[in-house]
Amino acid sequence: MTQAVLSIDLEALVANWRALDRCSGTSTRTAAVVKANGYGLGAARVAQALSQAGAREFFVAQAEEGADLRAALGPEARIFVLGGHMSGDARLIGEAGLIPMLNSAEQIARQMAALPDAPFGVQLDSGMNRLGLEADDWAKAAPALLAKSPALIMSHLACADEPAHEMNARQLAEFTRMTQGLDVPRSLAATGGTLLGPGYHFDMTRPGIGLYGGRPFTEARHVATLSLPVIQTRIVQPGEPVGYGNTWHAERVTKIATISAGYADGIHRVLSNLPHLYAGETPCPLRGRVSMDLLTVDVTDLAEVPETLDLIGPHQGVDALADLAGTIGYEILTGLGPRYARHYRESLG
Ligand SMILES: *Cc1c(COP(=O)(O)O)cnc(C)c1O
Repeated sequence: MTQAVLSIDLEALVANWRALDRCSGTSTRTAAVVKANGYGLGAARVAQALSQAGAREFFVAQAEEGADLRAALGPEARIFVLGGHMSGDARLIGEAGLIPMLNSAEQIARQMAALPDAPFGVQLDSGMNRLGLEADDWAKAAPALLAKSPALIMSHLACADEPAHEMNARQLAEFTRMTQGLDVPRSLAATGGTLLGPGYHFDMTRPGIGLYGGRPFTEARHVATLSLPVIQTRIVQPGEPVGYGNTWHAERVTKIATISAGYADGIHRVLSNLPHLYAGETPCPLRGRVSMDLLTVDVTDLAEVPETLDLIGPHQGVDALADLAGTIGYEILTGLGPRYARHYRESLG
């Protein structure tokens, strides 16, 4: 059977990294966030392409992801672990040469007991209340940590995708206050913060979603295309239903194509009856419920039914699909499951 294919345009990915890199000055390095398997697109291939383009710093969420990335990237890359140093991770962190972002007094103690001479970073909470040391904990821990020259001090913005949100300036002020005058590289901005301007850039930016073509980097080039194979077609007469629960009925003589992919592949069931699939330029409406492994699509208006239809592509990106599903592009991308063959388009240059 023709397999469903998730095509990843590595040239566009690299172009997005370079464009975000150009947003900041030459004294600011641009890292790449490749957690959750490179936002579903394949962390190893994504990171290798960015490394070839000049990225030297990568962020993952967990130590296991970091160890896999080390194997893909070799010894030179710096790999930061946002979740920090979790219990039981010391060996993985040490052997893979990962840099845990320490988030709590407990993690600091764990790091200093197990890996006293290994590199580490510090994550501060500047108001999001999710990860990182609070101001009080930081004040207590800072002298001992600073004596060991942290590789990075960072914090994360809660509302950077809304440039006018007052939270941005508030977190910037708090992060600045907590780190003023320290001789340690600092980082505050992910994709949204990078687009907020130079005041947010410090020594390193950490874009994720923008690399993969998602909002809020609206100028991003399109990276992911999802092509789904047609299993069979049938003619449905006016009044006949399609799919579970009879949620759609034909109003005319309709040609329905049944497609191999469903909610088990990250095509959320809430998308039932909502998006189009594309045959080249031609939109074909999804009819009826999304099943676990199948979709049913109205292809009546096509002169010829192609072997595959695109659910994600230049005509309907991850954000358009996310809007229909009532979610964000991040969730659509990271939900794209293991059943897709991931094909990588390399730079031709
Ligand atoms: C996920 C994440 C990023 C990347 O965020 P994007 O919005 O995808 O650019 C950066 N920093 C931290 C702490 C994160 O959790």
